Amino acid sequence: MPAGTFIYGVPGSPARHVYSSAAELNAPLHGELLCCSHQPPLRVPMATAATSTPAAWQPTLVCATLTARVPREMAAEVDAAAALGADVAELQVGCLDGFEPRRDLPVLLAQPHPLPVIVSYRPKWEGGQYAGEDEPRFEALLLAMELGAEYVDIEFEVVDKFMKFLSGKKPQNCKLIVSAYDYESTPSVNELLNLVAQIRTTGADIVKILTTAADIVDASTMFQVLAHCQEKQVPIIGLVMKEQGFISRILCAKYGGYLTFASLEKGKESAPGQPTVSDLINKYKIRLIGPDTKVFGIIGNPVSHSKSPIVQNQAFRSVGFDAVFLPFLSDDLVKFLSTFSAPDYAGFSCTMPHKETALRCCDDVDPIARDIGAINTIIRRPDGKLVGYNTDYSGAISAIEDGIRASQPTDSTTSPLAGRLFVVIGAGGAGKALAYGAKEKGARVVIANRTFARAQELANIIGGTALTLSELENYHPEEGMILANATSVGMHPNVDEIPLSKEALKSYAVVFDAVFVPRETRLLREAAACGATVIDGLEMLIRLVMVQFKLFTEGMTAPEKLMREAILTKTH
Ligand code: NAP
Repeated sequence: MPAGTFIYGVPGSPARHVYSSAAELNAPLHGELLCCSHQPPLRVPMATAATSTPAAWQPTLVCATLTARVPREMAAEVDAAAALGADVAELQVGCLDGFEPRRDLPVLLAQPHPLPVIVSYRPKWEGGQYAGEDEPRFEALLLAMELGAEYVDIEFEVVDKFMKFLSGKKPQNCKLIVSAYDYESTPSVNELLNLVAQIRTTGADIVKILTTAADIVDASTMFQVLAHCQEKQVPIIGLVMKEQGFISRILCAKYGGYLTFASLEKGKESAPGQPTVSDLINKYKIRLIGPDTKVFGIIGNPVSHSKSPIVQNQAFRSVGFDAVFLPFLSDDLVKFLSTFSAPDYAGFSCTMPHKETALRCCDDVDPIARDIGAINTIIRRPDGKLVGYNTDYSGAISAIEDGIRASQPTDSTTSPLAGRLFVVIGAGGAGKALAYGAKEKGARVVIANRTFARAQELANIIGGTALTLSELENYHPEEGMILANATSVGMHPNVDEIPLSKEALKSYAVVFDAVFVPRETRLLREAAACGATVIDGLEMLIRLVMVQFKLFTEGMTAPEKLMREAILTKTH
């Protein structure tokens, strides 16, 4: 049998269907997995007889991983996990100082415990703390079963030995999770399905596979495995570690993953990329994610600071829109869009460094975005075509106009930017949006950029003036100028950086900073000290995400009050 071949059929029937690629495995499968290549042929027991109709989808459980060093503290963590809304708690007993199974397990497993628990006692060779022989570890796990642990987790490498040790002593009501870790990479769909098949032969009640992401597309590999297992009713925990695999910890709920792990609080993660219980439940609304949930997100690097997930998830759910919004950490927009190309991946926000590449990835581009030469929003139309928009432009300009109007009230309906000298630092996506927008409002635009050629190019397009950053330091042709920073200078963690000296800032009456983490940048602090009217990047963000919400939801009105409060108060 060639490598990567999967043979399906109904046991007892001679009919066989051979699948040789991951793509084919996405099609409806016939019968149950009887054997696969790479290994001696396996006959894989499935939970139920396979049918051609998809199996019922089950909600994904939220499991808090607990790593306290003292048994009573770990027991208290189970209470805390229950209070946060977790469904299950994983007791990583190897984390306990001087763990004594006969002394400590009765404390941890005292009945009734507030949540069902998984007991794991991971050896060092599989990322845990235990350095001894297998036998005492197996004895501890058997004791946990006897004391009423609902689940026990054992590593795939030693499961045969463990089953021999148990020799039928596993209580009926305890489920065995057999886990395999790959701390280096995410193998192919075929390799992972092969692994699933092998784990199933061991007598596992639940298959657990954790791999490591080199790229966000590795999460898609795991989703194909989860979707396949869901269809075949194989209970599986399939997650991809590291920040690039973060979405797997949430979207496993869309693909029927058995459970997803989370820490009790930030800083207590037991694996890289783990969210908190609270983030899963409150920020990403994992309880509301189902097979039909549409997926949106922000693509960029970095994206972990983005407030869009907090805001859009709350807004989606407040209007009853079945969708989730995620951070998509990716350096390769083209690869991302071609991998996550299913209709359910319905729209994206684009941030650094993708706003210009995004223009080339879209089939259609809104005329304003085409003029600006940058896109911050992509919508997948029902026919699969990608359409690009720029909401930075309207967000930034309306924030600056309203900021000026608030500080210098006027009855005039003309834009307060008309006729003013408007200096933009930066010629990337945000810089172009600001320069274009200011020009549209009748301002005289000056562009300064680290790479002078880009400033020149933008100035030529919009009919403005280009300066180098050092020329900008001594630029003072008139009073009352407006300054807009559209670079990442001053952004967390480089909060002491400033794009222009305090001395030069004295020439400006209005200063806007597109940077919004922190809200009050050094630039804004020093500009305010010089007496300027200051407008922060959060105000731009609020406005642009409201426009994005409308595009994502095909025209629903954005819940402004909720979105504003979410951005201003639910920061992290
Ligand atoms: P981008 O397309 O990658 O452009 C980055 C710009 O910053 C380029 O002009 C670049 O100059 C300049 N730059 C980067 N590092 C610099 C440094 N150390 N010194 C001087 N210039 C530097 O990024 P973008 O999307 O325009 O975003 C720019 C900023 O706007 C970011 O801080 C982003 O968070 C913020 N932003 C905020 C909002 C909001 O809602 N508030 C929305 C969009 C963007 P070179 O051309 O020389 O590389």
